[in-house]
Amino acid sequence: MYADLIILGGGPAGLTAGLYAARARINVLLLEKGSPGGQMAATELVDNYPGQPEPILGFELAQRMETQARKFGLEIQNAAVSFVTKIDSGFELSCDSGIVYSCRALILATGANPVKLGIPGELQLAGRGVSYCAVCDGPFFRDVEVAVIGGGDSAVEEALYLCRFASKVHLVHRRDKLRAVKEIQERAFAEPKLTIHWNHVPEEIIGEFDVKALRIRSTLDGSLSELSIGGVFFYVGIKPTNEPFIDLIETDQRGFVMTDENMATAFPGIFAAGDVRVKNLRQISTAVGDGAIAAYSAQHYLESH
Ligand code: NAP
Repeated sequence: MYADLIILGGGPAGLTAGLYAARARINVLLLEKGSPGGQMAATELVDNYPGQPEPILGFELAQRMETQARKFGLEIQNAAVSFVTKIDSGFELSCDSGIVYSCRALILATGANPVKLGIPGELQLAGRGVSYCAVCDGPFFRDVEVAVIGGGDSAVEEALYLCRFASKVHLVHRRDKLRAVKEIQERAFAEPKLTIHWNHVPEEIIGEFDVKALRIRSTLDGSLSELSIGGVFFYVGIKPTNEPFIDLIETDQRGFVMTDENMATAFPGIFAAGDVRVKNLRQISTAVGDGAIAAYSAQHYLESH
């Protein structure tokens, strides 16, 4: 299957690139392996997206972006692309299913996924008390004590969300200061159900068939203690989804895609937008900006090649 422009990934960056490309009447196709929305769709409430004075469900914002892009004629197909190769006329995208797509220009908007710490018990108990998505799994922990690992925006925001269900939420953070933005911190400090374990890291998740406890270690004196909890939510950062095209493009040490200010990678015809890109601020609003610029740059590339 051929399109002049293929957008890989249907989060806010991909959907915005799709909206702009469709409006520019480019022959464009967006490929998404799950349902459109990316991490935005798995976020409980979004309260910092401009033009939206009341908090909006991440899922609803995702649906609105998809509806708007489709309204302008964007075609979205469900496809898990496993590798991208360069061909004479552009690029070929091969899927696990055997389907092969081709295009002349490509926008990488594959986003990023939660980092796994790999501590004992984490993999074994994934889906049985270990989770990376409070919005998806939070309601299963009604009246249960849970732990959240991390001190960034995601950890603190999702810990606050879990306070709606859990009897108590333990936030385990390796330093004595949160990385999360001040407004989120203020809400955390005011939440009676939330206890912060400063200067601690998770050591082991205890439980045979489900989570029974979390062993944590002090980063100050190495002492160990145990929290009796039924669930652990990890929010220790994100890593870029770059596997299908890692051999084609230049990345930083962490694997995020390098682009210039026009979202162009060093590889002619390949652009990148959103969380997969090297950038300082990963937000829905910055992903949207990237998407618009990437579509504009791809349009110029297509017109001049
Ligand atoms: P993040 O900002 O990278 O924070 C990761 C947290 O995990 C940090 O507190 C870090 O500790 C901790 N951590 C990392 N490695 C660890 C380890 N090995 N052991 C223990 N703790 C560890 O990641 P994020 O919170 O997922 O956010 C990702 C991006 O999305 C950020 O740019 C963020 O601003 C954005 N975001 C924004 C919002 C919002 O605006 N509402 C919501 C969610 C996410 P240190 O602090 O010590 O490094």
